[in-house]
Amino acid sequence: MKRKRLFGNLYLICQEGEKNCNIYAIGEAETILIDCGIPEIMETITNHLSSFCLPFPSYVLITHCHFDHSLAAPDFKEKGSKIVAHYKTAEALEKDTYKIWPENLPAVKAVKVDIKVKKDCLINLSGYQVKLLHTPGHTAGSSCFMAEISGRKCLFTSDLFLPSGKIGWKGSIDFNLAEFGESLRKIRALDFDILLPGHGDMLEKEEGRECIERAIENLKNPL
Ligand SMILES: [Zn+2]
Repeated sequence: MKRKRLFGNLYLICQEGEKNCNIYAIGEAETILIDCGIPEIMETITNHLSSFCLPFPSYVLITHCHFDHSLAAPDFKEKGSKIVAHYKTAEALEKDTYKIWPENLPAVKAVKVDIKVKKDCLINLSGYQVKLLHTPGHTAGSSCFMAEISGRKCLFTSDLFLPSGKIGWKGSIDFNLAEFGESLRKIRALDFDILLPGHGDMLEKEEGRECIERAIENLKNPL
C-alpha cells in the first residue's frame, strides 16, 4: 500500500485500497489522522507513520460512518487516539449496527466519540486550527475538514465527489440528493489551495474547482 509525503507536514499515509479510503496524516510532534480505514490496515498505518517519524495519532478525524473510512476507529481509540466527528456521524459510530457497505465485513464495533461537533466550527488540535464543515448528502453526518498545513489551505472532501467529477456513492439509507447539492455549493464557495478526496488523487486548486463544478453538473444524473 502506497504512502507519500505530499508536502510539508501533510502525508498520504495509506493510499486507498480495496477496502479503505485514502488516509491522510497531518503531523510533526503529534499526529492527526483523517479517516482510518479498516482494522486490517492499522499495522500498515502505524508502520507508515513510523517511517516518517510520526507518532501514533493523538486524534482520528472521521469524515463519515462508511466502513472504508471508519471501521478501525475503535482500535485507534483503544490505543489512545481521541475520535473526532460530527454528532450525526458520532450517533452512527456509537451503535454496533451502523449502516455499512458492502456485506461480509468483519464485526462492527461501537466506538464512543470523544469530540462531537454540533455545527461548523474551528477546533484546535495539536496546534492546528481544523475546521469541520458539515456537508450532508452522501450520509447525514458527512463532513469535510479544512486546515492550513505548511502554508496551504487544505480541504479534505471525503466522498463528496470523485476526482472524475462524479458524486459519491448514493446507496446509504440516509443519502439525500438535495442536501448533496447544498453541500457541493457550500464547498464551491470556500477558498482552498488543495483538495484531498477520500478516493483518487490530490487536486490542485484549479483542478479541484473544475471537479466541484462537474459534480454539481452531475447532480442531474446521480450514479
Ligand atoms: Zn462513503
